[in-house]
Amino acid sequence: MIIIERQELIDTFLHLAKINSPSLNERAIADEVKTQFVQFGFTVIEDDTAKKINGTAGNLICLPPSFDGSKPSMALCAHLDTVQPTKKLITVVTEEKISSNGTTILGGDDRLGLTVLTYLSKKLAGVSSPLKNFICVFTVGEELGMYGANHVNLTPYNVSEAYIFDCSKRPGIYIKDGAGCLIFTSTFKGKSAHAGVAPEEGINAISLAAKGISNVKFGRIDPETTSNVGKISGGGATNVVPDEVIIDGEVRSFTLEKINAQFQLVKKGFEQSTNDGGSVCFKSEIDFHPYVHAETSSIVQNIEKALRSVGLTPKGIRYTGGSDANSYNGKGIPAINIGTGAQKPHSFEEFILIEDLLKSTEIAIALIQQH
Ligand SMILES: [Zn+2]
Repeated sequence: MIIIERQELIDTFLHLAKINSPSLNERAIADEVKTQFVQFGFTVIEDDTAKKINGTAGNLICLPPSFDGSKPSMALCAHLDTVQPTKKLITVVTEEKISSNGTTILGGDDRLGLTVLTYLSKKLAGVSSPLKNFICVFTVGEELGMYGANHVNLTPYNVSEAYIFDCSKRPGIYIKDGAGCLIFTSTFKGKSAHAGVAPEEGINAISLAAKGISNVKFGRIDPETTSNVGKISGGGATNVVPDEVIIDGEVRSFTLEKINAQFQLVKKGFEQSTNDGGSVCFKSEIDFHPYVHAETSSIVQNIEKALRSVGLTPKGIRYTGGSDANSYNGKGIPAINIGTGAQKPHSFEEFILIEDLLKSTEIAIALIQQH
């Protein structure tokens, strides 16, 4: 049984929060986590993701002394990067909460998750009760689009479920179903001509793009699906009929089928605009995978049991933002993202309630305890 000491937990957070490690510059935090976990008796493996993503550190896989690679394991996960630097961070700690002084981010996303797993691992040494087979996984480059999770290979560790401590919702809430996202680039090709001398010889790519966009519904498509055109570039001088326009956009939904169906409608609408001349071509990729877990699935049962055991009412929600959970689910490892209460993420008003830091740690402990 692990006893959580409030001040020690807060100090762990403050120490980790002050280590400056924005995305792709995670070396300092990776070194600190390595040092600490080795002290806790863990075996720490840093993978070769750094060179694949042009960063300064790879993902860390931390195996506790009790780890048994011949049995299925659960991965407890957090990410090492913060969305902006925390070099000048001055923390403000009150009875209820921790925030920055308002001139930088706090980095609670995801230092809170990292703190929970670091503290839990530190406290394991004195625990005699049997624990579930688990590992800790700390990824890099999450804020840029789950770079670390996309590259990490968990196959050697027999991971059958992954729990991500990286959702800004309060403890008790977890993301049961996560939307996936397809991003696309469409290039409209027209024909350039002198706009004042021979406009009839040209095909205006801006007009093609405008017609194409107006042919398609964007915004909220149905309760599960959204789509957006987010960027347009092209054209040049006012006296030239423009021959190229590039439009970037995305489609989000909770199944790949729905994502692809909506993308086909986008393509059809854009292609219709070139019926009288010009052309349009597309490039697309899945930015992150959707996932939907059944109420009866092992991962939902496990998290709900853990949440109840620490006095919370579980609430599995659907969510349209991505996290490492999407990446693991895409690899076939059932994963969910757990609310830790790192509130107002990515802003200078970011804060965490101390009660949420305590509760999140209780959730992590409950997850690895044998019942
Ligand atoms: Zn995060």
